[in-house]
Amino acid sequence: MVERPASVAKELIENAIDAGATQISVDYDDKGSSRIVVSDNGSGIHGDQVKLALTRHATSKIRGVEDLSVVSTLGFRGEALASIAAVSDLELVTRTRTSESAVTVSVRSGSIIDIRESGHSRGTRVDVKDLFAKVPARKKFLKTPATEFGALLDTVKRFALGYPGIGFELRHNGSAVLTTPGVDTDRARLSQVLGAEVSGDMMPVDCRHRGLSMRGFLSRAGRSFGSSRHMSTFINGRWVRDRAVFRSVMQGYRTYLLKGRYPAVSLYLEIEPHLVDVNVHPAKHEVRFSDPELVHNFIIESVSSCLQKGSTPVGRWGIDSAELRVREGLSRRGRPGAVPESRPVESTQAGTDSRDAARLPGYSPPAAAKEESSSVPEEQQGLDLGVGSAQGRLGRVEVIGQVFRGYIVCQADGELVLVDQHAAHERLIFEQLKKRASEGEMPGQQLLMPEAVDVGRGGVEALAKWREFLGSLGWDIESFGDGDVLVRAVPAVAAKADPRQLVEALFQELLDYGTATVTERLRDAVLATTACHAAVRVGQQLDVTAARSLLEQVASVEFAASCPHGRPVARVLTRSQIERMFGR
Ligand code: ADP
Ligand code: MG
Repeated sequence: MVERPASVAKELIENAIDAGATQISVDYDDKGSSRIVVSDNGSGIHGDQVKLALTRHATSKIRGVEDLSVVSTLGFRGEALASIAAVSDLELVTRTRTSESAVTVSVRSGSIIDIRESGHSRGTRVDVKDLFAKVPARKKFLKTPATEFGALLDTVKRFALGYPGIGFELRHNGSAVLTTPGVDTDRARLSQVLGAEVSGDMMPVDCRHRGLSMRGFLSRAGRSFGSSRHMSTFINGRWVRDRAVFRSVMQGYRTYLLKGRYPAVSLYLEIEPHLVDVNVHPAKHEVRFSDPELVHNFIIESVSSCLQKGSTPVGRWGIDSAELRVREGLSRRGRPGAVPESRPVESTQAGTDSRDAARLPGYSPPAAAKEESSSVPEEQQGLDLGVGSAQGRLGRVEVIGQVFRGYIVCQADGELVLVDQHAAHERLIFEQLKKRASEGEMPGQQLLMPEAVDVGRGGVEALAKWREFLGSLGWDIESFGDGDVLVRAVPAVAAKADPRQLVEALFQELLDYGTATVTERLRDAVLATTACHAAVRVGQQLDVTAARSLLEQVASVEFAASCPHGRPVARVLTRSQIERMFGR
């Protein structure tokens, strides 16, 4: 459909790609009336075919009925050029490899007004002026110039991500906006399109399962964006914006992202043709699978297993390294010739007394740096604090104390580490619960007084569906009157949490995820909520012993990079970053 400048560009770029172009440039002007020019170095169109190319339903791309099921070209409806020409002033210049001269065709409101020989290098150039000028009804629907250009830029970026070998150039009112010379690798193209800073933080994924494969790149846990603009998915080479695919990717990130935050992903799915329904209109960016659940579960599992593997060793602390890098960049700019980072790191003094730090002027002693390493806080009892082994880096840090009743300050290997006590504890409990749930050992704790909670009609319906499932996770809840439920037992681990708040959060998850076909996702959501309510809160005092024992246990679980809601567990300042802060 020719709806807006971006869709014109999309059709023209697809044609250029189908024509085997290796270099495609797009010029977009929106000062005054808008103009889109797409030039390529592809096959060109033979002189005697030019008229036909501009006629509706005159595609050269389908040779037989069997072609329809294995369409390998991008466009095959044979109407894009004609549709665009119908709502604009269009000029097409084209030359094949074998012809001596080019042909120029001018079309006005759909009628060819002139065909002449001309000079042009090999390839095709389509110049579209005054789009919708004579179709005011359409024109009215165009958004602001900035929005239209944004959509066009996104379109070109997607093609660039989909075709790393093809060089793309986008100019806006004469100045270059995106220049991506053809490259050999997806990684190199990713960096050209998303920038080195975003792409440098993404990790590769490569998964295969029964006729399905997924390659590409995913941003790490702990890195997120305010919109989904850095997310692109391709199926069999074609960019798609499919809600179910999108949701599957987001579900793969489920325990790594805060609500309202999005990852950066560039994913190339290859799906055997018999699993994809080709009858879906190609102008729609949606796809239909013959076995949707298979495909969606594959996406969810591939994303989440990649994140699980990637988060511990590489994103060690779940830090937002990009943010740190930006700061580094700032301080470097201010001080050219700054000291390189390779200074020898002095060995950390074992057993530094944390009270020394407390005596520094201007530093009020953290409450946790008290001498007596007293009892484990109430809310952590029953969570095996103190038993964990000191494996992993968090287990080897030296705890200095707690600040703001929420953060544990540590040092290790020339780094200052700040740990969010709630996020760390939450991750730990979440992992323990997952293990227990998979072993079928999730004891509930009876409440002294059953608690009635208003969860609304939807909540009562969700309960009817999930009651047994919740029972397996330690809950005993029954419906009770109109829109109310009666809570008799909660998971033992959360026995000390406020049952009302916990149950309200639980029903929120049921409503958000209760329609999911994958029970595992709902289970994770419920366990994450349980963990959140069972974990030590910000605002609770932790002494050094309790803090150390918490970190040791967190270090012993498999991935500690972020809490199940996606917040980072720890952040790091390196020694050199600290030194730079002070201009050393
Ligand atoms: P479709 O791409 O669906 O076949 P279009 O209306 O987009 O239909 O294009 C019509 C025909 O014009 C194509 O089938 C192709 O033969 C020819 N064509 C269009 N653009 C180009 C191009 N950039 N290079 C070579 N041939 C082209
Ligand atoms: Mg086409």
